[in-house]
Amino acid sequence: LVIPDWGGFCNQIEEMFEQCRDFKGGNVATYIPQLARVDPEFWAVSICTVDGQRRSWGDSMTPFCMQSVSKPFTYAIAVEELGADEVHHYVGQEPSGRLFNDICLDYNSRPHNPLINAGAIVIASLIRQKQCFSDRFDFTMQQYKRFAAQGFVGFNNAVFLSERETADRNYALSYYMREHKCFPPNAKLQETLDFYFQLCSIETNADTLAVMGATLANGGVCPLNGDRVVCNRACRDVLSLMYSCGMYDYSGQFAFRVGLPAKSGVSGDMIIVVPNVMAICIYSPRLDTLGNTVRGVKFAEALVECFNFHNYDSL
Ligand code: GLN
Repeated sequence: LVIPDWGGFCNQIEEMFEQCRDFKGGNVATYIPQLARVDPEFWAVSICTVDGQRRSWGDSMTPFCMQSVSKPFTYAIAVEELGADEVHHYVGQEPSGRLFNDICLDYNSRPHNPLINAGAIVIASLIRQKQCFSDRFDFTMQQYKRFAAQGFVGFNNAVFLSERETADRNYALSYYMREHKCFPPNAKLQETLDFYFQLCSIETNADTLAVMGATLANGGVCPLNGDRVVCNRACRDVLSLMYSCGMYDYSGQFAFRVGLPAKSGVSGDMIIVVPNVMAICIYSPRLDTLGNTVRGVKFAEALVECFNFHNYDSL
């Protein structure tokens, strides 16, 4: 077993879980009513190891939309389909140093990386390009479900409709990118954006999202059923980018203090991957000014205080 004293480990996690409950700073996202209405007290931590040990605390069955936590999975699916070289013809690997929805491109007029809005919109345009959008959505949903070993992966249509209604920035970003020839030649702007909003609106819960993360911790093979969802290379690439770009404008500090690949979303969800060991999913809707879940960041920092999971702890 990758964590031999599972009971003792879980007791320590539970203690951190209770301590982090006290952090009540930050605010829920308010740009769409579906997020503004969420109970800010929701608090969940779920763990899934690469050998399939699982444990959850708190509101781990409460559904939430994935928002930006969808981005690493969509990117991995694109790399699996097209290969890293083709994908990175369209999008870079550099932290942008700007807000996630900023209208800016890199020196090559490409999005900085696949984990900010610009990059994720371009990635959406690359998946199954030759198919119609209904099939492209179906395909991507099926792949998400494979990451989750067929756990709970749904779709929140109200979130999708709201995202589309309040998307001036994403429209502006997309027109700007079309001007700079960021998309493949036949990409349709409106449909690409709808697809991007739909991916943000995919619903899951902490219990299931931990399994999706554990598939990344396990090199692309789902630990619950042995299904190889993406190749090792796609997995390596997504974890590298999560390490450098996964936590918005806190990514550098997070890499320094926590030293683990992670990704957060504006619904208050977050995954932390300990490669070859496990994934942790956190859900707590109150966000700091950068858009990261407050309790999630505190929990990650407490985790590496207690265990030597930081990338450079074992030196
Ligand atoms: N769906 C929102 C957007 O595209 C936010 C995504 C996120 O979690 N940062 O702007």
